[in-house]
Amino acid sequence: MPNLDAATLSHFTESLFNAAGVPAADSKVVAANLVGANARGHDSHGVMRVPQYIEFLEKGEYQNGVELKVERQTPAVLVCDGQWGLGQVQAHRLLDLIIPKAKDLGLAAGAARHCGHIGRIGEYAERAAADGLVLIASVNNNGGGQRVAPPGGTEGRLGTNPLCVGIPTADGPVVLDFGTCVAAEGKVRVYYINGKKPVPDGWLIDHEGKPTNDSASLYEAPHGTILPMGGSQTYKGFGLALVLDMLTGGLTGGRSPYPGAPPAKGNNVLFLLLDPALFAGYDEMISEVTALAHYVRDTPLAPGVEAILLPGDPERITLAKRTAEGIPIEAAHWERLIALATKLGVKVPLV
Ligand code: NAD
Repeated sequence: MPNLDAATLSHFTESLFNAAGVPAADSKVVAANLVGANARGHDSHGVMRVPQYIEFLEKGEYQNGVELKVERQTPAVLVCDGQWGLGQVQAHRLLDLIIPKAKDLGLAAGAARHCGHIGRIGEYAERAAADGLVLIASVNNNGGGQRVAPPGGTEGRLGTNPLCVGIPTADGPVVLDFGTCVAAEGKVRVYYINGKKPVPDGWLIDHEGKPTNDSASLYEAPHGTILPMGGSQTYKGFGLALVLDMLTGGLTGGRSPYPGAPPAKGNNVLFLLLDPALFAGYDEMISEVTALAHYVRDTPLAPGVEAILLPGDPERITLAKRTAEGIPIEAAHWERLIALATKLGVKVPLV
């Protein structure tokens, strides 16, 4: 399994996008998000996505160099069409446009339909938190990627619809960032690409609603589905996924799942920004949330547990480890990147 430092992997990733005709500045933004996901342990949203994005570009499903088209705005609301531009580029542009609104008004919402896949959403929350802002974010798949069945159902109806909430504290932000099913689709894809390895118990059900460990059941007919999160209470994950789809599909002007929807290719994006300075006060909020974070961290530990972690901690811990030791890339993913580099005439590092 190759192991690369973040700078080398970023340079390689940028070169692949550049060779596929992506403007250099955009390649940088997308590479930073993908390599940033690998560096924080979310390989499902890392460079594994490069072949997928480039295939979408080659097929004309994604567009190069398109603007984030503002269609409607009020002082607090911005509605945009991403025109199927690369998702990370459009999502950062959306943030660029709503941060000043939030700072003026205390809150602002940005809705952008038809963006490419925007990757690890925590990145946008980290950016907002560094600016002293709270971000609440979600995306859907514009009707595609119906991988999650409602409780009791045997056919997918909803996407893995993530929820991300980022809150600045004195010790770095709390970043809650997960799909509302047991495992992000990309995590199942990692097992599938790696020789159709079995997934852990409790992730998937087959087309008859029976538990299965077969990662192929998500990608090969007859199709199974990913369970909503919630363990014995899957209705909680399902309920969240449903309302997030209604909000992201309904408020962006994009689509939510419908019969015969095409396969997923990207995201409708909803960002809600809050400026604590215009609520009870920035210092007031930092003091309160930091005290709460410390109190929760100080919970007495069960035997064998080393520390209480807060959302955002696992990513910080993995970032420190992979910064020191390098980023391991699964052999199967690396081979796909080498094949792509060969096709595009890009020099492969480590060879
Ligand atoms: P996950 O199950 O790995 O959960 C991650 C979240 O849980 C993070 O906030 C993390 O800090 C927290 N966490 C993990 N272990 C913890 C612990 N022991 N204690 C406290 N907190 C803990 O996430 P996932 O559902 O696999 O999603 C992975 C990534 O996929 C996310 O970054 C998400 O944004 C991304 N995603 C993107 C899309 C898209 O369409 N763009 C869709 C789904 C998911």
